[in-house]
Amino acid sequence: MTMASLTRLTEVGTDQVKLIGPKTAAKLSSAGIGHVADLLHHVPHRYIDRTRKTPIARIPIGSEVTVLGEVRSVRSRRPRRNLMIIEAVIADESARIKAVWFNQRYRLNQLNEGTQVALSGVVESFRGSLQMKSPAVDVLSSDLEGLVTGRVVPIHSAVAKLSPGVLRRAIHNALTRSRPIEDTVPVEFLAAHGLMGRDEAFASIHFPESIDDVAPARHRLVYDELFRLELALALQKRRQILEATGISHELKGELTSRFIAGLPYELTGAQKRVLGEIESDLEIAHPMHRLLQGEVGSGKTVVAVATLLHGVEGGWQGAIMAPTEVLAEQHYLGVRNLLADAGLSPGLMGEGADLGMESLFGEDGPAVHLALLTGSAASTNYRPEISRTELVRDIETGKVDVVVGTHALIQEGLSFERLGVAVVDEQHRFGVAQRVQLKEKAEDAEPDLLIMTATPIPRTMSMTMYGDLDVSIIDEMPPGRTPVATKLLSRSEEQEAWELIRKDVSKGRQAFVVCPLVEDSAKVEATSAVAEHARLAGVFDDLDVGLIHGQLPSADKESVMARFRSGEIDVLVATTVIEVGIDVPNATVMVIEDADRFGLSQLHQLRGRVGRGEHQGSCILLADPTTTEGEERLEAMVGTSDGFRLAEEDLRIRGQGTVFGTRQSGVKDLKLADILSDFETLISARHDAFALVASDPTLEGHPELAGEVRAMLGEEVDWLFVS
Ligand code: ADP
Ligand code: MG
Repeated sequence: MTMASLTRLTEVGTDQVKLIGPKTAAKLSSAGIGHVADLLHHVPHRYIDRTRKTPIARIPIGSEVTVLGEVRSVRSRRPRRNLMIIEAVIADESARIKAVWFNQRYRLNQLNEGTQVALSGVVESFRGSLQMKSPAVDVLSSDLEGLVTGRVVPIHSAVAKLSPGVLRRAIHNALTRSRPIEDTVPVEFLAAHGLMGRDEAFASIHFPESIDDVAPARHRLVYDELFRLELALALQKRRQILEATGISHELKGELTSRFIAGLPYELTGAQKRVLGEIESDLEIAHPMHRLLQGEVGSGKTVVAVATLLHGVEGGWQGAIMAPTEVLAEQHYLGVRNLLADAGLSPGLMGEGADLGMESLFGEDGPAVHLALLTGSAASTNYRPEISRTELVRDIETGKVDVVVGTHALIQEGLSFERLGVAVVDEQHRFGVAQRVQLKEKAEDAEPDLLIMTATPIPRTMSMTMYGDLDVSIIDEMPPGRTPVATKLLSRSEEQEAWELIRKDVSKGRQAFVVCPLVEDSAKVEATSAVAEHARLAGVFDDLDVGLIHGQLPSADKESVMARFRSGEIDVLVATTVIEVGIDVPNATVMVIEDADRFGLSQLHQLRGRVGRGEHQGSCILLADPTTTEGEERLEAMVGTSDGFRLAEEDLRIRGQGTVFGTRQSGVKDLKLADILSDFETLISARHDAFALVASDPTLEGHPELAGEVRAMLGEEVDWLFVS
């Protein structure tokens, strides 16, 4: 038989495999196993090494083990209404052990007297006898003996209702008929990482002779999977570069230097480094697509303004886009102050007084014309009063150097005279579709794009999710910031939280109280926020207690925010509408009710709303967590304020595929690799993939590999190969 390639195996249905009929094939397909290549990637999740089997009698207490034995009895009890306890006794020749599960009724069907099982978990001693609490169960069924050549039994997780024995035999059959499997990865990469051959890897991962063969086999297949993904990303990036015409900004840097010199502080090392990375992008002639990550308060805005000023100096316009009007306004105020600090404001002139003053470097030094344009606001730093129409005209004629607005800036009909650099805040709401619109705004050359986000995305994730974006990270806070002191209190201790609020308010500070999250219903959430506001207005009857939630009309939201910003409101009761970007440096306390219901990223974002000024910030998490996950999240919050560590923690707790609730393509397709534990392999695979595409931009010289990327990653990447 000729060598089978993975590409070829993606064309063979699983119904071609012995023991798999059309019905089962259909079930497999809906479980994500569409063809034989997928089936070969359904690798065992556990192995039982019979050569190292420990008799139950000799299992050390407290260790994590897999116990093999026969079910002797199963019973269930219901001591309370919400509690069902299932107990089974498992025995081998040497002894018995009891296993206990809670509220897992299905165990009654799974376990029968005489069933051969493997239990994996921690062995404890309970009232003098051995016990395992909620162990994982693999039913070995009666076909355990004789079906596997080696002494290691692979356990493939159940799929399509196939019994473990049948599944194992089916995979055995598929593998035997597919071998030898062609290796498409350039040998120099294999040699550099000491990777075993692909054919051997498939054989050893499914049916290892010895347990020691599993790790190198897995390493090889994980590498392959990540290499294909990174190749797709490298090709996509290559495409973008080839197809787009960008602007080659000439960096004189005078304006930017003046701006930086005029700031009342020194840039942090991280800010300088990141600005350098951006500057190299600006100079070259293909468009920048850069993601700027940095904690809330790490000073991204300053970097963004410095970036825009490079463009402005060369006669280009800049835009800053925010997801909401409130945030746009806040950005405008921030940028206006930064320019003023640096002496780059034109100074407000009376009506008509500045007509004809077009030059950037006027008699009084350079001045940057800044504007805010949203659905409801039009302001500038060069005229006290301006109508929308006048402002739109000023943008179209190029009088405005930098405009701040919502994403609607590019979605609506506004045209720029010469848009050169665009900055987008909070990338989660700025999708690929908007990026395309931005591209279309540009008549001849595509503007450079900087996407800012305070959502810490672990490097592992950004490398797979945003392979087509370059990433810069501000990983250093401006000096003098103390982390927000975070404390976990039980709901019955809420008085302590209210006292803290009183204490800070008496010193002139302000506080947020975030109401419990109500799943899936902004309406119900608003109702409960209204009720909580009424209750807290009673608790703080001598203070001014405000309320903001998503169901308020936007004018009301803005007026509440304005009153909070001005210090009129002491305590702001809020839903998660305040999660993003709200910047009130005088707010020092953040109380989050039922905090265990929030995701880690939300908690981190919320906590970021306090401790932004010169005063120490505090965050109180009020919760009585009912799940282990909830408890772990709260512990993580108390334990660190480092967003990147929290993000990694989130990844660990929730598993890959969901980063902050968004399923991201690329990652979800990974069958074998775990981007946290396989991080080193990811780095090598990425490095190799980008190197290969650099030397062979269309993979013309590696047709089998190109075919495999396309076949394995599916339709999503088809467009990469259309020439
Ligand atoms: P981000 O946009 O990352 O949330 P900002 O750019 O709004 O952060 O900066 C937060 C605050 O820190 C602002 O008040 C800003 O003026 C200040 N800041 C920025 N960079 C520095 C620095 N290097 N040293 C001191 N303060 C800084
Ligand atoms: Mg910001």
